[in-house]
Amino acid sequence: MAEADFYLSEEQRSLQSTLRDFVAAEVEPLAQGADDDERFPVQVLRKLGGLGYLGLRFPVEVGGAGGSNLDYAVMCEEMARGSAGIALGVYVHTALACSALTEFASDDLRERWLAPALRGEAIGGWAFAEAGAGSDAASITTSAAVDGDDYVLNGAKMYITNGTIADFLVVVASTTPGQGLKGLSLFLVEADRPGFKVARPLSKLGVRASEMAELVFEDCRVPRENLLGREDKGFLDALRVLVFGRIASAAFAVGISRAALEATVEHVRERRQFGVSVGSFQAVRFGVADMAMQIEAARLLCHRAAIAADRGLPHGREASMAKLFATETCTRVVERALHYHGATGFMSDSPVQRYYRDCKVFEFGEGSSELQREMIARELGL
Ligand SMILES: Cc1cc2nc3c(=O)[nH]c(=O)nc-3n(C[C@H](O)[C@H](O)[C@H](O)COP(=O)(O)OP(=O)(O)OC[C@H]3O[C@@H](n4cnc5c(N)ncnc54)[C@H](O)[C@@H]3O)c2cc1C
Repeated sequence: MAEADFYLSEEQRSLQSTLRDFVAAEVEPLAQGADDDERFPVQVLRKLGGLGYLGLRFPVEVGGAGGSNLDYAVMCEEMARGSAGIALGVYVHTALACSALTEFASDDLRERWLAPALRGEAIGGWAFAEAGAGSDAASITTSAAVDGDDYVLNGAKMYITNGTIADFLVVVASTTPGQGLKGLSLFLVEADRPGFKVARPLSKLGVRASEMAELVFEDCRVPRENLLGREDKGFLDALRVLVFGRIASAAFAVGISRAALEATVEHVRERRQFGVSVGSFQAVRFGVADMAMQIEAARLLCHRAAIAADRGLPHGREASMAKLFATETCTRVVERALHYHGATGFMSDSPVQRYYRDCKVFEFGEGSSELQREMIARELGL
């Protein structure tokens, strides 16, 4: 991060520099192998837990380390610079699964699941999407019916990050069928519950260092205390968790963009054609300058949204703008990075081809660009 980030406190700069060291030592060396094998290196999550990073942004009372949304955004950027896939697995665990437990779980459930999860001893997932319900959550068909003191879950979830390795999942299910968004509720489902199973692991184009699965619930019984938050108000409760996801997605995008820019500057400085370095051609210099400028703008939007959230200010529009701008910028920046690398960047062992595959998901995950534009337009009164 540049000196111009004067608004970061001493503690935030120190966090940033320690995380940068951690990523260089513990994440970057694993990034390509984890991508090749499509395996999430669980040991990274355990180490982050041991060092207290998983607790960032969580209250000390629940086993967290305190800290702000801006601190967390700094962590997302640094982690994604090393490996967007590993960063995604960590993010789903903390910002989605652990956040839902912090907001909505009973003290008992928090003690049993949240505290170990923040230490990296248990892994969480967030099971929202279904084969027929992506952007349109009202189409969710997984149901949770009351039966005595239990809820009984039936249905299937698709594209679930950490699905293969999760010890527990936060599951969105319909408690009042036919009511769409107004009939959804959140549940904690432990992975060893009878009736829950991983139907199959899913292989993907990018962020391959995170693992993904299709999950099935067949008469999967959970006690009433596993209801997180308010029955039938699960969509609104989920939105409270998800709004931060836009800021985190923006930070991921800045991290990947920065990795691509750093690789490009190094490459065009070294690579010689026509007797000079490629970076001495004005067409390339201008392109790289634009990449740097766009990344700075994306980071500012991201940090502005995080600071607004930290100050308790309305930040929905800011978060949407940050996510939209940063993720679309990232796709452009990474495309340019690959272009300026030529064939070198196109080879399977080049990190640049990984960035190229990793960036796209952030544009349509966590509310696609179209949905962000809709939200911004609505806030403008359109
Ligand atoms: C790597 C990865 C990890 C994921 N991890 C998780 C996870 O852990 N948990 C989870 O629950 N889900 C997860 N998902 C699923 C993710 O949440 C969905 O991909 C996302 O919600 C979008 O849904 P969809 O992919 O079905 O796309 P669709 O909703 O089918 O959208 C397809 C296209 O239509 C456009 N579109 C949709 N609605 C509108 C509209 N109203 N106006 C204009 N355009 C529209 C979209 O912008 C998009 O371009 C993951 C997906 C990926 C790829």
